[in-house]
Amino acid sequence: MQYDEIMVRYGELSTKGHNKRHFIERLGTNVRDALHQFPNVKVHPKADRLHVILNGENSVQVMDHLKMVFGIQTFSPVVKVAKDYSAVVKAATALIADQVSKPTTFKVETKRSDHHFEMDTFQMNRQLGADLLEAFPELLKVDVHQPAVTVWVEIRLDGIYLSSEVIKGAGGLPVGTAGKGMMMLSGGIDSPVAAYLAMKRGVSLEMVHFYSPPYTSEQALAKAKELTGKLANYCGSINFIEVPFTEIQETVKEKVPEGYLMTVQRRFMLRLAVELANRRKGLAIFNGESLGQVASQTMESMRTIEEVTNLPVLRPVLSYDKTEIIKIAEEIDTYDLSILPYEDCCTVFTPPSPKTKPRIDRAQKYEQVLDIDGLMQRALAGIKITRIHAGEEFLNQNEDVFAELL
Ligand code: ATP
Ligand code: MG
Repeated sequence: MQYDEIMVRYGELSTKGHNKRHFIERLGTNVRDALHQFPNVKVHPKADRLHVILNGENSVQVMDHLKMVFGIQTFSPVVKVAKDYSAVVKAATALIADQVSKPTTFKVETKRSDHHFEMDTFQMNRQLGADLLEAFPELLKVDVHQPAVTVWVEIRLDGIYLSSEVIKGAGGLPVGTAGKGMMMLSGGIDSPVAAYLAMKRGVSLEMVHFYSPPYTSEQALAKAKELTGKLANYCGSINFIEVPFTEIQETVKEKVPEGYLMTVQRRFMLRLAVELANRRKGLAIFNGESLGQVASQTMESMRTIEEVTNLPVLRPVLSYDKTEIIKIAEEIDTYDLSILPYEDCCTVFTPPSPKTKPRIDRAQKYEQVLDIDGLMQRALAGIKITRIHAGEEFLNQNEDVFAELL
């Protein structure tokens, strides 16, 4: 079926009052970004709907990309015909033939903004309903209350628009409308899911990833980058900031009692993420912590770690069970990557029994022997920033990556 446009409905956006225009413009930009590989597509964000004019581009492929854009409630592929009843019948017949393969119920629902058209909505509903019944006597039955299929007909000034399918969009708010956040992205299961949920609420993210060569491999770094590529499917592209963490981890391991290794390391990670946020206009730090999941994720521990900053530390998966997080990871296709067994910098330096209730005064005391500023400055001097695009891959480029797993 060759469609002419995809009609996009906003959902939650339409309740945004003053900000509505800003949200709609942003959504328009994000949709254009998501569809940049279809050069003939034109995107028109309007107050009530957004129209994606296909100009001959493949509607199935375009819709696959639209499904990932946050801020879209539902969308429908639409056929446009001349203002002529026989053209309407032909198009509606083609829609039904395309979508209905077993007996079902239907109705026709017409809206008319051009009141000069020869048929009114009542006549259109009745006549087109009857003609479709005649065309598909085996398949269709009318049900005006709860039809399985609705054929929408919109009679506008410039033509008649028909559609019969409503496809669920990604929901949420357009990425970029909630400001920028720094996402602490490990190679694990939780932080990519937290990143997805933050973006879904309109946050534009930059990834901060700590790595500790030679204790962690090139593959661990490549895995975090590839996860970023998966997440960029939802927003076009994401900056990936890698921060060398070896010197800090070695120093902390040497100078801090074992029970506080984890806490002090985490305090450094957070300080570094905050410094990057300050330099790059980030408004908050995001991480993948879930309450009670491991020793570093108790409230006492969060409090002691967070003491180093007054920037908000936001935890999108805080209240999720592991099984719920895994379910989302599978849906967004990060799970298989996350479970690849490349050690990240925390696993390597995790003590056997970290304190589950670390105290602020103790953490401060143990840090007194460390040159915090010097350690931070050297780590920050070594950062590398890569712009990662939707679907970009990093693991497969290196052929012996998988050999290592065998
Ligand atoms: P994840 O699955 O996200 O790794 P986790 O359950 O394994 O989470 P931890 O390893 O304790 O938990 O990490 C808690 C959070 O700290 C992570 O969700 C992530 O936001 C951050 N974090 C941990 N390691 C790193 C890292 N190497 N680089 C950046 N952030 C990290
Ligand atoms: Mg982890």
